[in-house]
Amino acid sequence: MPEIYGNVTGLGPQAHKALERIYRRRVPLDRIATPELVRSLVEASRETKRQVGALVHRSGVVDYVVVGTATGLMLPDIGRLRAAEGRFRALRLVHTHLYGEPLTRDDLTDLTRLRLDLVSAVILDAEGEPRSMSWAYNVPSRDDGKPYDIVGPVPYGHPQPNFGELIASLEGEFAKHGKTRAVAKDGRAILVHVGLKKNSRSADSARASLAELAALAETAGVEVVEQVIQLRDQIDPKFVVGKGKLEEIILKAIDVDAETLIFDQELSPSQASGIAAQTDLKVLDRTQLILDIFAQRAESVDGKLQVELAQLKYSLPRLGQKDDSLSRLTGGIGGRGPGETKLEIGRRRARERVTRLEKELKHVAKKRDQQRRKRNSSSLPIVAIVGYTNAGKSTLLNALTGADVLAENKLFATLDTRARRLHLPDGSYAVVTDTVGFIRNMPKDLFTAFRATFEEIADADLLLEVVDAGSVEREEHEKTTAKLLDELSLDRIPRLRVYNKADSITEEERTALETEPNSILVSALDRDSVKRLVDRVAFVLSRSARVPEETSEDARNEEAESAM
Ligand code: GDP
Ligand code: MG
Repeated sequence: MPEIYGNVTGLGPQAHKALERIYRRRVPLDRIATPELVRSLVEASRETKRQVGALVHRSGVVDYVVVGTATGLMLPDIGRLRAAEGRFRALRLVHTHLYGEPLTRDDLTDLTRLRLDLVSAVILDAEGEPRSMSWAYNVPSRDDGKPYDIVGPVPYGHPQPNFGELIASLEGEFAKHGKTRAVAKDGRAILVHVGLKKNSRSADSARASLAELAALAETAGVEVVEQVIQLRDQIDPKFVVGKGKLEEIILKAIDVDAETLIFDQELSPSQASGIAAQTDLKVLDRTQLILDIFAQRAESVDGKLQVELAQLKYSLPRLGQKDDSLSRLTGGIGGRGPGETKLEIGRRRARERVTRLEKELKHVAKKRDQQRRKRNSSSLPIVAIVGYTNAGKSTLLNALTGADVLAENKLFATLDTRARRLHLPDGSYAVVTDTVGFIRNMPKDLFTAFRATFEEIADADLLLEVVDAGSVEREEHEKTTAKLLDELSLDRIPRLRVYNKADSITEEERTALETEPNSILVSALDRDSVKRLVDRVAFVLSRSARVPEETSEDARNEEAESAM
């Protein structure tokens, strides 16, 4: 027997029958509700003298029938939202109002909090016949601050909007909106590091690794609300952490209202699905988090395709056999990114898409080479900031360019949206752009996707290699940076090493770094040193001023080197 949710106490068999009948209704996607559905709701309301509602899925099926009191309705727990940000729950609520009242505050709270597709009230007259209808839906945040639009009440029987089209366009707006937001706070996450109990340093390296994961999560726009470390004699093959610990973490997540668990290692497909089977939370691993960042950063067509391909390839073996288990394992943070609309797809479609993408990429690669050659060299000088995550790249970008406007897209169409304008002392200006940080232990498979995020700076005039002067891994970072830049074919671009966080090191260390060649020691937090950096950048740029296309790259590099 289909379950009836909500306030069912004291209902007789007639009422139950009327309520159960609602489950038989089907609603096509182009309408909010059919007259048949409304009729069934109205009859059940009459029978029960209570509000009655149906949560209708986009597939047309009634997923839940809910009965309330005479003046309100409590929706059942429909689980945590795990769909992508920018997308709704795929459920709409159609329910009755017995006393002619319009949509209530509770209705609107359910709409926004549960991210329902839409909430509609069928308003009954004194005879218990439908008199009018009102509905509301979520809209991207606007100036008036209201996160929803309300329509009606309109007389019952008046034409309804095309529901499917309405929702599609709203979701489109949300998706667009999400992309242009400066600081995305895409939910709250708990980070989990599981390591082996090897020696006394295990705990330290676990903390260092988690700190980087936290920085990555922040880059991805996630708020880290809790960090969990578990050191074990061996990694649990099924759940990574022990079962008891996993339960503890899940309870914690409910407590702190987190909807994502991010594991600081790669999860095998079976671990990913094992953990996902235990919880409603979104489960990500380190690789997926990194891919999510790439997805946000990739700007070129090529880059987007590369990242989507990497996402799909990584997700494929993790896709469950059952289609309903897909969404939690495939997407990134809120399933965003170039592939965002395609992330919740089944294995077969995923495979087809992989084949398509590979073909498209071959095609795009050819075009790109042609375009690069065409790019004119008279535009503004471009300064790209590279370096490890947490070195202070973003802080430095902000310090250098102050509250200056985002560089207009049109002007710098080849650059990504993080490009900013830097005023040089002589009154001219350059474009400074942030890049995705280098990442410790980056999974090998991600390199192509990683490279894709750097394509835009292939034509940069100067690289600022930001190094955290206080990091214990400083020298190792410098070495790997050189290697990475080589692999990214960026090693021919003039480069200035910026030792950042001068304030965090000892006097001796400062003296040592000050004498390093081709470098400058600064603190992004100190105005004077930022000014010195600007002067230095201006100087290097003036020396390596753009040379005609024909001049060899080597000549350009020599010039730059002599300038440093
Ligand atoms: P990114 O990952 O390279 O973009 O690094 P961020 O710009 O996000 O900075 C990482 C952390 O280092 C932040 O907590 C910054 O506040 C901090 N930071 C950046 N520059 C400095 C600096 O010059 N001195 C100190 N003490 N901290 C800094
Ligand atoms: Mg940054």
